[in-house]
Amino acid sequence: MEFRKNDILTLDIEDCGVDGEGIGKADGFTVFVKDAVIGDRIKAKIIKAKKNYGYGRLMEVITPSPYRVKPACSIARQCGGCQLQALSYEQQLKFKEKKVRGHLERIGGFQNLDMEPIMGMEAPYHYRNKAQFPVGKNKDGKIITGFYAGRTHSIIDNRECILGVKQNKEVLDRVIGHMEKYHVQPYDEATGKGLVRHIMIRYGFHTDEMMVCLILNGDKIPAEKALVESLCEIPEMTSITINVNKKRNNVILGDQLRLLWGQSYITDSIGDISYQISPLSFFQVNPIQTEKLYGKALEYAGLTGNETVWDLYCGIGTISLFLAQKAKFVRGVEIVPQAIDNARENAKLNGIENVEFFVGKAEEVLPREYEKNGVYADVIVVDPPRKGCDEVLLNTILKMKPERVVYVSCDSATLARDLKVLCAEDYELVRVSTTDMFPQGVHVEVVCCLHRVNS
Ligand code: SAH
Repeated sequence: MEFRKNDILTLDIEDCGVDGEGIGKADGFTVFVKDAVIGDRIKAKIIKAKKNYGYGRLMEVITPSPYRVKPACSIARQCGGCQLQALSYEQQLKFKEKKVRGHLERIGGFQNLDMEPIMGMEAPYHYRNKAQFPVGKNKDGKIITGFYAGRTHSIIDNRECILGVKQNKEVLDRVIGHMEKYHVQPYDEATGKGLVRHIMIRYGFHTDEMMVCLILNGDKIPAEKALVESLCEIPEMTSITINVNKKRNNVILGDQLRLLWGQSYITDSIGDISYQISPLSFFQVNPIQTEKLYGKALEYAGLTGNETVWDLYCGIGTISLFLAQKAKFVRGVEIVPQAIDNARENAKLNGIENVEFFVGKAEEVLPREYEKNGVYADVIVVDPPRKGCDEVLLNTILKMKPERVVYVSCDSATLARDLKVLCAEDYELVRVSTTDMFPQGVHVEVVCCLHRVNS
């Protein structure tokens, strides 16, 4: 059946989109409705209609979802940071499990999957070790900082995000206070004028080390010394840097970094391994859940000490070093050269010598090393970005025939697509584990274990 603009429909909301909008279906027509929650029965007015789907405005909640809760944050609805706060945490976990199962079944073609119970958080707030706060002005010209509203770049004033560490507020108060006192202007995206773009804060959960990095549309900030003195009154302060980004684009960080005080990095650990984290490094944002996720990857790798392992898409070597503790030798591949510099430093820092890192695309390095140098793998671990693995890489894995493949994924749809290729003939999906790395948000991490069935 076709629907048109202004039609009014009754919908049962069964799913949630990437921006947290509720999704319901009427006669095969899919409708996305902002502010509707999974489990709601609602009336929606169609505001935009395509052939098979449309967007609706929430007109009335006929029967509220039994899973609706009052969001813990008062601005959850406007803010683009969280999508699921109006859904109970228990139900968020069920939704994520269902999403992963749905993708594996529909896209991957796997049936009756035995999935391990999703690993949620005991306290699903204040878990993020990193936050990047944009700085701007409100209508009255007052300097504000917080998060972007959903789908826009208008800033919602909030210094107390409940996903971040409590110390963030103290830093923001001091930086904004300094800007007010010395008349430092925030950056304005529309004109490209003004100085302060973002305030990045990182916190080491195990070390209590704190990093502040100011991202500026310029080389310095007025009265630097006074700002440093003020920030150093925070007991955990370890690193204060300035990052210069004079480009007129949406990328947050520029390439240049200048140390204002302390060290240019903080240290934190996952399990027994320490990592140095600079303002430019990628590091998982939820340290508590990362430990569980890597624990699963290690368990699935089934290492006894004799294995040669490849860790593809290795970033700063987090998983590689974790695995190196139990493997004979680990080789990591990553496209970003600075991340590989960090990986090598981190190996040294931990006295780990049975690792080697390669800069390059996984789909180029692995085929080259296999064809030219005949490299071998007992276990291959992949942790690709959301778009998943390149087909060339999957085909090389099939040729190399490792005993086990461990697939760590942040997007279950591309995961399912790739597993279908690997499991067409030679591999069997034996275990699936889901970790909630982003409570209150829609994303979820999955680790899968594949065993070779044909020799
Ligand atoms: N395993 C790491 C990082 C995972 S994020 C960790 O857990 O910390 C995915 C990583 O893949 C990023 O570091 C990104 O830079 C890298 N990447 C993206 N495309 C790539 C490619 N084609 N080949 C190798 N690495 C790639």
